[in-house]
This record gives sequence, structure tokens and C-alpha cells, in this order.
Amino acid sequence: MSPALTAISNTGTAPLRFPHRNLLGIEGLSADEITFLLDLADSYVQQNREADKKSTILRGRTIINLFFENSTRTRTSFELAGKRLGGDVINMSVSTSSIKKGETLIDTAMTLNAMHPDVLVVRHPDSGAVALLSQKVNCAVINGGDGSHEHPTQALLDALTIRRRRGKLQGLLVAICGDILHSRVARSNIQLLQIMGARVRLIAPATLLPAAAERLGAEVFLDMRKGLKDCDIVMMLRLQTERMQGSFVPSIREYFHFFGLDYDKLSAAKPDALIMHPGPMNRGVEIDSEVADDIDRSVIREQVEMGVAVRMAVLDALTRDPAQRNAPHGK
Ligand code: ASP
Repeated sequence: MSPALTAISNTGTAPLRFPHRNLLGIEGLSADEITFLLDLADSYVQQNREADKKSTILRGRTIINLFFENSTRTRTSFELAGKRLGGDVINMSVSTSSIKKGETLIDTAMTLNAMHPDVLVVRHPDSGAVALLSQKVNCAVINGGDGSHEHPTQALLDALTIRRRRGKLQGLLVAICGDILHSRVARSNIQLLQIMGARVRLIAPATLLPAAAERLGAEVFLDMRKGLKDCDIVMMLRLQTERMQGSFVPSIREYFHFFGLDYDKLSAAKPDALIMHPGPMNRGVEIDSEVADDIDRSVIREQVEMGVAVRMAVLDALTRDPAQRNAPHGK
């Protein structure tokens, strides 16, 4: 088991702990543990804005990015995070054979395990695959997105973006809109936001809602204007056509008309509501280009910046030695 971590939160209150060996999902994390990671990430935002961005916290450590599914920002972000902390980062992209998927996953895990990595960051098209892999290796495992199940570092970076802009998560009204059915981002965010005391609304056509959407603890809306009313945060999701078997929307044009975020629909939300999107964006499908690029309202680029800081915090937290538990991190 990896050590339990203790750190003083930036708010200067009670010590917070992070006792987990892996980060497989938001499910199972407490508000204190999430706050611990967000506070740690906050300090890395500052480090990343300095001319010298590098520290030695992960010197001698090996991080392997094992991606069975395409990724641009998540993989790059983890790579940068590992390098900024002074670790050695190796990227492996593996194409999945649909016939021997299970075998490939475990074989690859065992092979990599024999090379003694300290952290494996894994993305896989199947829900649950990363948790399965974590049982076969000795090192820490971070879920970089598994099927439509969870994408914990995305939810953490979204939370950090919101918290830095609004100063809190507690009590905010957050709308998550679009392809909720196929979205691991939605699943991780729904949990994290509720753990942290935010209220969540899900807005989607009935075909893109999970079967028991109400049981996720969020209010469900089938109409954008009604769902967006008085929201503080508007989180748009990509229409994930690669996970769709069959037709879920009549046409892209109709989808944009009813569910694409444009200024008209956005006017139902609070006047200063923030616009978010995990990327990659389908402009003109789930979001209007002008809205996405609105420098006063859109925090989409900031989300990318926060992504590196959050991944540094997670790598730091999962690799600390017992002797360093209480030490302030730094260069
Ligand atoms: N990048 C996010 C993910 O990997 C969102 C998306 O692909 O739409 O889930």
C-alpha cells in the first residue's frame, strides 16, 4: 500500500489526508481528499507560470502512459506533468484488437510491470479495464479514461478551474449538457461536484441520457433553456459518435438547434455563467464557435492549463515517500 499523505490545506485549516494507492475514479474519494488534491494542484499552477517550471520531486521515478485509445490533451498533459516534476516519462500507444482485447490488456500490464515503473497512466475503451489492470501490477495506476465509466483527472481539473474562478464549489448550480450517456467526463463530474456540495443538472435529449439518470442524484432536463435557467456553470460535452452504435440524434443540424450552446440558450443561465468543455470540441455541433471563444465567459483554455497542474498533483500524491508525508512540496 502506498503511504497515507498528510498536508496542510492552502486554507490553513486541519490536515488533510490522501491514503489511496491508485486513482481509478472519483467514486470513493472524500471531500477532504479532493480538497487536498485541488490545493496541491493550485500550488503547481504557480510553478507552471514561472520561467523555470521544473522540480525534482519525481527524480528517478518512471511514469508510463499506456493509451489503448486516442488522446491528445490527456496524454500530453500527463507527459508534461511528469517531466515538470523531474520524472522519466514513456508514452505507449496500443491499438486494441477487438478479438483478444482482454488478453492484450493483461499481457501488456504484466510486461510493463516487469520493468518496474512507479506509475502507469492508462486509458482504455472499456469501462472497468483500468481497475482490472491495477490488480495485476505493483505500481500506482491512474485512470486516464475508461470507456464511458470515469475520467477522474478531468473532473479534478474542471473543479480546480471552477474553484479558482468562483472561489468555491459548494452551492453552485452546474449544468452538464449533451451526450451524457457516453461520457466518462460526466460520470466523474457528477460525483465530484455533488461530493463538494454543488448542485448538478443534466440536460440532454432522452436518447443521450443513461437509463436511470435521476438516480445519479442530479435534476434531469430535456430542454436547454429550462435546464440552464440560473446556472452558474455550463459544461458542454462532445457528441461521442465513436461510442454510438446506431442513431442517437436525428441529424447534427437538429441536435445543434435544440442542444447546441449558442448565445440565445446561454441567456437563460446567470449573466456571468462560465462556459466549459473538456475537449476536443465539435464546433457547430454541441457548441457555437463564438460562444466557445468568448474571452469573458469561456474557460476552455484555462481547463487545459489546470489539467497539467492537477496531473502534477496526482502524480506527486501517489508517489510520495513516507518520510516526505508532511514536507511541503517544492523544487
Ligand atoms: N477528452 C474527454 C475524454 O477523453 C472528452 C471527450 O473525448 O469528449 O473523455
